[in-house]
Amino acid sequence: MRTESNLDADVIIIGGGPAGAALGTFLARDGHRAMIIEKDIHPRDHVGESLTPSTNLVFDKLGFLDKMNDAGFIHKPGTGWNAPRSPLWKFVDIWLFEYPLEGTPQPYTYSVERDVMDTMLLRHAHENGAKVLQGVKVKNVIWENDRVVGVRASAGDGWERDLRAKMVVDATGRRCFMATQLGLKKKDPNFNQFCIYSWFRGVKRPPEKYTGFTLFYFIGLNKAWSWHIPLRNDVMSMGVVVNKDDFQKSGQDTEEFFYSLVRRNRTFTNAMQNAERIRPWWIEGDYSYKVDKFTGPGWMLVGDAVRFVDPIFSSGVDVALFSSLYAYETIQEAWSNGDPVKPFQDYEQRVTAGVDIWYDMIETFYKLQNLLTRFATGRRTKELIIRTLQGNPYIPQTQVRARKLLAAMEESYQKVMSDPNNLLRPWNLNTLLSEHTEWRGAPFGPGRTQGVEASHARPGLLDHLRHWGVDELHRDRHPGPEPPLSFGRRAAGQRSGLEGPPSASTGSSIRPIRRPSRSSASISETSGRIPSDSRSATPLVVSSSSAVMPRW
Ligand SMILES: Cc1cc2nc3c(=O)[nH]c(=O)nc-3n(C[C@H](O)[C@H](O)[C@H](O)COP(=O)(O)OP(=O)(O)OC[C@H]3O[C@@H](n4cnc5c(N)ncnc54)[C@H](O)[C@@H]3O)c2cc1C
Repeated sequence: MRTESNLDADVIIIGGGPAGAALGTFLARDGHRAMIIEKDIHPRDHVGESLTPSTNLVFDKLGFLDKMNDAGFIHKPGTGWNAPRSPLWKFVDIWLFEYPLEGTPQPYTYSVERDVMDTMLLRHAHENGAKVLQGVKVKNVIWENDRVVGVRASAGDGWERDLRAKMVVDATGRRCFMATQLGLKKKDPNFNQFCIYSWFRGVKRPPEKYTGFTLFYFIGLNKAWSWHIPLRNDVMSMGVVVNKDDFQKSGQDTEEFFYSLVRRNRTFTNAMQNAERIRPWWIEGDYSYKVDKFTGPGWMLVGDAVRFVDPIFSSGVDVALFSSLYAYETIQEAWSNGDPVKPFQDYEQRVTAGVDIWYDMIETFYKLQNLLTRFATGRRTKELIIRTLQGNPYIPQTQVRARKLLAAMEESYQKVMSDPNNLLRPWNLNTLLSEHTEWRGAPFGPGRTQGVEASHARPGLLDHLRHWGVDELHRDRHPGPEPPLSFGRRAAGQRSGLEGPPSASTGSSIRPIRRPSRSSASISETSGRIPSDSRSATPLVVSSSSAVMPRW
């Protein structure tokens, strides 16, 4: 019979990523014997470099915030996004600390090299008293009478043994060690994305006001986007997320496919003109899933091991850190009041309610991407958007706010979709443009999906635009039925991705957009309004594959 004193630890944590390291630190600081078992030897590379403001709160509780500042990571004050044919380097932007986040004194979060940050966090756990085993893999969880009592661990040199504890916590990230073994992991039916990313030097810098911003380039495909995250030493992390099917159908290799997506956004193309890749491509797939039951006798899950949602809102480290904080509080409560059930039920509810908010935001966003911009730029809704994207959706006040936002977005969505003429509906603007537009030059035809032509809009179009307030709409491409992708194998003579993205002046597949002149009756740059005397034939910028892109 084992007693507490001859257990190897009070809590064994499998995995030394942010979730495992944070939990180990909390427990050790509170006098518990925490053992973190990590299969790799840090530093190890990892995706997930852009953090949410909420992470400051947990770093602070861990006594780690000063170390983050001392490390000199890039400060991230905000985020911006643009549409495939937005004017170069123009973004819809939000300053994430425009509305102060209670409990954090600094007006920025960070973009981090994950190998560095994760190593620092694991060392921090060790410095606070956690035992850290690196290069040791957990092979099995040991069960006794339906209760987890320890793990079987092994190292590369043949060392292998059973380690026992009162509680085993799975923090193995998307490997979902225990949930997979228990058959609890459920693949998300709505998201089957895949990502390619790498680090680059020589990426063009955005205008000064966007220093430190994480930028998103939308690429005119459903459930697809790309990121531009500034790291230290002029390195940029550039990645694309796209439906897995699109890659499979393309018949292209990783590099060709990546650059074919770069070319779908003007600013992305411009940014990458002189970029040089400095690391191998990194691919991540099949990453959206959930686990409904994530606690049981002697075990619980934290971080990505519980659930993973599309990372567009940079929610991963927020989930990892907060679930670890709550797991610590749960263990603490269960052990101090001797209740083996209720604290764990509360933990499941709390984490589920929070991650549901991230998930619902993501789903709503993909249903009608224009809504995010509309709400982010609306005077009365901007605060709700910013506060929701700050993170920490696990506490009642954040949840109430986020639910209010989601309800308002859903209402707008229903309104838009119930009116067949509403220009916010996917592709309505395109239909309208084709009906009300006289094409100048050749019409779009096969193989011209990326072409851009100037056209003259008939006066009726402007009435429609004014009626729907199109100048206030997101200038992004709608999701929904897509025009055919122009992927496919490269034709002879066409540039390959290996040569880097073509520039607009050197035979780009994206032809320069003819911009409405300032004096023309287009949507005015300064006021964003359509002048009332603009009923004459008006040059508009029209793309065969995207909505009209007025200035903003
Ligand atoms: C495409 C993409 C983009 C992302 N972008 C962002 C972003 O911008 N911002 C953000 O916050 N998040 C982002 N994420 C999510 C982020 O990467 C994760 O949410 C975060 O790393 C989760 O931390 P974790 O500690 O739960 O898991 P991990 O960081 O994955 O750590 C798990 C650890 O467990 C170890 N391990 C696994 N199995 C075993 C075993 N059997 N024995 C011992 N050790 C084991 C692993 O080696 C690993 O070190 C992104 C994810 C993807 C896929």
